[in-house]
Amino acid sequence: MAGEPQDDCLFCKIVAGHVPATIVRETDTTVAFRDINPQAPTHILVIPKVHYPDAASLGAGDPRSAADVLRTIGEVAEEEKLESYRTVFNTGSGAGQTVFHAHAHVLGGRGLEWPPG
Ligand code: 5GP
Repeated sequence: MAGEPQDDCLFCKIVAGHVPATIVRETDTTVAFRDINPQAPTHILVIPKVHYPDAASLGAGDPRSAADVLRTIGEVAEEEKLESYRTVFNTGSGAGQTVFHAHAHVLGGRGLEWPPG
């Protein structure tokens, strides 16, 4: 069922505490943790606790959790003292998505070029 935990989903396992992660913030509906392969001095993933495969399906299926992800991004950026940062939702393998549980990358702590590759 949409939103239910998936046995084969890495990020559902992190939400459940079955896979360890360096969690920096947790709310009723979201978890934020450090990316295992950071692409910037600060690289945090913010995920909804509910399982949706990407950001758009999360927004359509559980708008409250989608809004909470955005709020958590701001709280994490403030805690990390990021004056400038980039928020990325990769969608689809062609855009680099490798984990099919909606997540925002929060990247900061260095200069970020535009457009991205
Ligand atoms: P995507 O490529 O789907 O946009 O982002 C997935 C992110 O998850 C990647 O940046 C990758 O480094 C990160 N990642 C993959 N496996 C793990 C893990 O086991 N723990 C953590 N903390 N991050 C992971």
